[in-house]
Amino acid sequence: MKYLILVGDGLGDLPIADLHDRTPLDFAETPMLDALCRNGRLFLTQTVPEGFSPGSDVANLSLLGYRPEDYYTGRAPLEAASMAIDLAEDETAFRCNLVTLNHGVENRVEMIDYSAGHISSDESRQLIEALEKECSTKRFHFKAGISYRHILLVKGDYPVMDTVPPHDFIEQEVTAPWLRYMQNPEWAQLLNKASNVLATHPVNLQRAEKGLNKANAIWLWGEGKLPSMPSISERFGLRGSLISAVDLLKGLGIVAGLEILNIPDATGYIDTNYRGKADAALKCLQTQDFVFVHVEAPDEAGHQGLLKDKLQAIEDFDAKIVTPIVSGLRSRGEEFRLIATMDHYTPLSLRTHTSDPVPTILYDSRELEKGSGQNFSEKTGQQTMNTLNKTPSDGETMLKQLLQQ
Ligand SMILES: [Zn+2]
Repeated sequence: MKYLILVGDGLGDLPIADLHDRTPLDFAETPMLDALCRNGRLFLTQTVPEGFSPGSDVANLSLLGYRPEDYYTGRAPLEAASMAIDLAEDETAFRCNLVTLNHGVENRVEMIDYSAGHISSDESRQLIEALEKECSTKRFHFKAGISYRHILLVKGDYPVMDTVPPHDFIEQEVTAPWLRYMQNPEWAQLLNKASNVLATHPVNLQRAEKGLNKANAIWLWGEGKLPSMPSISERFGLRGSLISAVDLLKGLGIVAGLEILNIPDATGYIDTNYRGKADAALKCLQTQDFVFVHVEAPDEAGHQGLLKDKLQAIEDFDAKIVTPIVSGLRSRGEEFRLIATMDHYTPLSLRTHTSDPVPTILYDSRELEKGSGQNFSEKTGQQTMNTLNKTPSDGETMLKQLLQQ
């Protein structure tokens, strides 16, 4: 038996007037997802437990069968794992963005750009190397990642404070969170020194000349220690792989003990290498028991508020991921159980994530039980739950259902 979880990131949405009050998932042409849903079980999964913010980190951890209440320690340690950084027990990883801040009158600080103009990895590597050379101490070390996304490692204790993601404050005031750091002498010294190093760095001088946003500050957030989790193979005796273009997902796969399959030209958007992903999923199932395939594009379209792109991303997920994988397994005569779902909604009208429970298909190729008879949508998921008088299950229950024979 082969087991699959196919995830369209941010696939869910709210009814849209232009679509006659249907959601993009309901409106889009998704013949394979609908067929699997009609012949399979349909239910809702609460991927984001109460009290957690609806990030892809928490939601995908749930979909991998780990209760965030037990295992979620923060976003940065997962990204550190994807960068092959070994976190020691006494170390904490902070996500370290290169950002563009504006310091105005009376200490007012504004977040001009959480990504310093989506600075290139080549430029940012030079900046992070300079920071490591000039600002690192026995306790603080900088590790270069991709574009504006880097890691600061902190050894030993530090004052715990409320940190905030910079992308939640685009063109807004961030005086209060900035001052929280400034109130601690050690943090204040680090952040001020970093700003000084960045201000005069040739990379930034060149950016200013070209009229690009300077990476004039670092922003620290998403901190946590490495989660200590039993691997999926330890928990369920399954060997498996994870396929995603996104570092955070790769980090989740690593801490869950999955093999990470890197697909050339996997971009995280609608131009991604779908075929490479579907082929890799089919190939790894020749020798392994389990695969987790993650597609980022619907989420990105949701954040950008682009209806056309979101519809395209949903139809591509159906036609270029779900369809070839299911057809490929069928033509090999393979028996399989499959979950098709999303991590969370990314409604176009909100351009951010929500915590709604997500519609989930569980399909068994042997079609042992009577199917739901429904097409796949947010509404049919809710209707099915109402009819059966059931509440959403959590991710761990969902995974255990997948693995039931
Ligand atoms: Zn997102």
